[in-house]
Amino acid sequence: MHEKCGVVGVSLEDRDAARPLYYSLYALQHRGQESAGIVTHDGFQQHSHVEMGLVGDAFEQSDLEQLNGSQGIGHVRYPTAGSVNACCAQPFSVSFKSGSLGLSHNGNLVNADEVGDQLADLGHAFTSDGDTEVIAHDLARNLLEEDLVRAVKRTMSRIHGSYSLTIMHDDTVLGVRDPEGNRPLCIGELEDGYVLASESAAIDTLDGELIRDVRPGELVVLHADGTGYDTYQLVQPENTAHCFFEHVYFARPDSVIDEQLVYEVRRDLGRALWDESGIDSDVVMPVPDSGRAFASGYAEAANEDADADGVEFAEGLMKNRYVGRTFIMPTQDERERAVRLKLNPIKSTVEGKTVTLIDDSIVRGTTSNQLVELLYDAGAEEVHVRIGAPPIVAPCYMGIDMASREELIAADQSVADIRDEIGADSLAYLSIDAIAGALSKSKADLCLGCVTGEYPYDIDGEAKDREVDRPAIGTAASADD
Ligand code: 5GP
Ligand code: MG
Repeated sequence: MHEKCGVVGVSLEDRDAARPLYYSLYALQHRGQESAGIVTHDGFQQHSHVEMGLVGDAFEQSDLEQLNGSQGIGHVRYPTAGSVNACCAQPFSVSFKSGSLGLSHNGNLVNADEVGDQLADLGHAFTSDGDTEVIAHDLARNLLEEDLVRAVKRTMSRIHGSYSLTIMHDDTVLGVRDPEGNRPLCIGELEDGYVLASESAAIDTLDGELIRDVRPGELVVLHADGTGYDTYQLVQPENTAHCFFEHVYFARPDSVIDEQLVYEVRRDLGRALWDESGIDSDVVMPVPDSGRAFASGYAEAANEDADADGVEFAEGLMKNRYVGRTFIMPTQDERERAVRLKLNPIKSTVEGKTVTLIDDSIVRGTTSNQLVELLYDAGAEEVHVRIGAPPIVAPCYMGIDMASREELIAADQSVADIRDEIGADSLAYLSIDAIAGALSKSKADLCLGCVTGEYPYDIDGEAKDREVDRPAIGTAASADD
């Protein structure tokens, strides 16, 4: 099982890349807390440091000093309950006959087993069961026969699924976004070089300028002297499959993804939530931090609505910032305790009031369940829950480790059942149409698998929401196609 992660790549004129990579990984820490790593190249050889833990813990001053070279890539990896696995930490690096490769991957292939089996038959030995290693070996093999661009194109014709990659082939840094653009990837300009990153917030951190998103199916090659880059549209997708959940939950609100500022999208979703299911109450309060932008948009729309009573936007829940993301907790009991540890109501904003509580999503229901009870205990008269995403009814296979069907509270329950289970006076979710509207995308260009149960990819045992023509694996696609 692979995870959503953060990837970066940097090519500078003559400064060491290690520090900018380190800072940009810090900016992407929310995308993965299990491990962090950097691989650089100094023109002669690769240097690598990959360790378990947060970015701040994974690197010492001396680690950064030994990462010589003006070119490099980095990675932060997302944790999955129970599989703290040092073998899968990235960047993945290999040396082979025609050079060295480093690879950082965000996403999840759906045909890694098939491609891996084929490569194994051809004599490739794998050290992990990860799909990133499959990509690395396939690319290494193609690089024995083709130039860089053709080799990447050939690999892209064989792998299927979700991948935003930063790759280092010797001292050349590349960025690749899968033809469906499932995960984000963007390119930015620094004073003395160029940077590729999962999110533009990482470029901001380096005082760089966002140039644009890497396009679905595009390869970006950063010049090894840090002075420019070339791009190749290697696959022309008919439809994209952007993950809407990046905009709803996962990405930083200060990032621009596919030309939209995430914060504004979330505020628009909050406004749509008012339009679809607004209810008068004394206060509107967000579940911090994920509900904040939604609640501010919702309250704004409520206060603009001439037919409504007007509402106070209040920070009614205090967050203990030192508690990690609750998902990391392996058991349900620990997850429940963690919510209580993490959030505490501010009594004066709650007592004797009718409250609308707003969050981005309900996954297992743990957070809403605990918070509704907490607000009643603090003296709330009514608690209405509004959610800035549709019910999550099915798992994510594309890199967001969202739990299995049995764990998803909405997998087999109606909204009314869920309302009763979490004990709220009312509950409403946002519609899928509102999501497509806020993202200015057709539903056919989004991956909506977790809210429809139909996926834009071939996944064993799951329904598909579109026809996608793909070459059968094993047909050695030519780069000139
Ligand atoms: P629940 O408590 O219902 O299981 O999860 C909902 C809460 O988890 C929401 O506050 C939401 O912000 C957060 N959340 C949603 N998706 C994810 C995810 O993929 N990872 C983590 N860590 N949190 C998530
Ligand atoms: Mg949350």
